[in-house]
Amino acid sequence: MIDIKKLIRPNVKVLKPYSSARDEYQGNSDAMVFLDANENPFENGVNRYPDPQQRSVKSLLSEIKGIPQQNILLGNGSDEVLDLIFRAFCEPNEDNIITLPPTYGMYSVLANINAIGIKTVQLSANFQPKVDEILNIADSNSKLLFLCSPNNPTGNSFEAQSIERLIKAFKGVVVIDEAYIDFSKEESWIRRLNEFPNLIVTQTLSKAYGMAGIRLGICYASEGIISVLNRIKPPYNVNELTQQKAIEQLEETKITQQQVQVILEERTVLIDKLSEIDFIFKIYPSDANFVLVKVDDATKRYNQLIEKGIVIRNRTTQPGCENCLRFTVGTPAENEILINTLKSI
Ligand SMILES: *Cc1c(COP(=O)(O)O)cnc(C)c1O
Repeated sequence: MIDIKKLIRPNVKVLKPYSSARDEYQGNSDAMVFLDANENPFENGVNRYPDPQQRSVKSLLSEIKGIPQQNILLGNGSDEVLDLIFRAFCEPNEDNIITLPPTYGMYSVLANINAIGIKTVQLSANFQPKVDEILNIADSNSKLLFLCSPNNPTGNSFEAQSIERLIKAFKGVVVIDEAYIDFSKEESWIRRLNEFPNLIVTQTLSKAYGMAGIRLGICYASEGIISVLNRIKPPYNVNELTQQKAIEQLEETKITQQQVQVILEERTVLIDKLSEIDFIFKIYPSDANFVLVKVDDATKRYNQLIEKGIVIRNRTTQPGCENCLRFTVGTPAENEILINTLKSI
């Protein structure tokens, strides 16, 4: 078994976290008089500091996902959650992380910001992790391994067997980025958190839940890991308006489910229609709300679409994605505009 304590940065291990007014008094009786946080006392909906532990949001998530609240940490988007993970485990100018390109760009951006080395092992031709190569390249300073599944920009999920082998054999923390899990037919790895003390799963309200604008990222992990991240997070990292909107929407799980259903049906229609476009050579299988395709000349097609008012993502510079474009699945009307425009250029 991996001892997580040995992976935590020494300064973080001995850190005394900032104790906010709301940390020191946690009751929330309406009858109380709050004169502890130097707030303006006149009520306007946001004059008070937000709950630093976001208990109402966590309690809803806990119900929806079937994970105890002690195993959940929330952040200002997944990007903040990922940054906290770097700062908890990676010593600047010493440690390194492993990423598997083509993948989400933030892992290497955050590594660079935090002065952490980056080792890369490109995904195989069908965009699966090369398990043996990954384990071989890891050294004693490899603290984090990022697995994005379903993967952005390729759209596919990684084989469960490969993920399990990596979690079991990697000597650091494995972070599975499940930003697109709510579109996937694969089961979330949050179901198996109890088996793996070195596993962190991140999710977000930005994609299936339709709340990219409020910035709410979610981290699921063992209590040990969550308590370390809690010590280093900014005290009020999720603002009051975000918490309120998240609660409002998370109480409407039916709406999210219906929208995901429509998006998945539209993905099938879109793939079907894309296969009729003569300059699209290949459509990669998708387990997410976007589709990666290979075309004759990605930059030319990208510019032609921009001219017609359609913005997509050109991924041609990504390793293994030469001449690839990424289309997000839109509304039925938007997808029809995309297809008609592709037919006309
Ligand atoms: C969109 C996306 C996220 C979401 O990031 P937020 O900061 O929560 O909006 C995370 N990971 C991947 C791979 C994504 O594509």
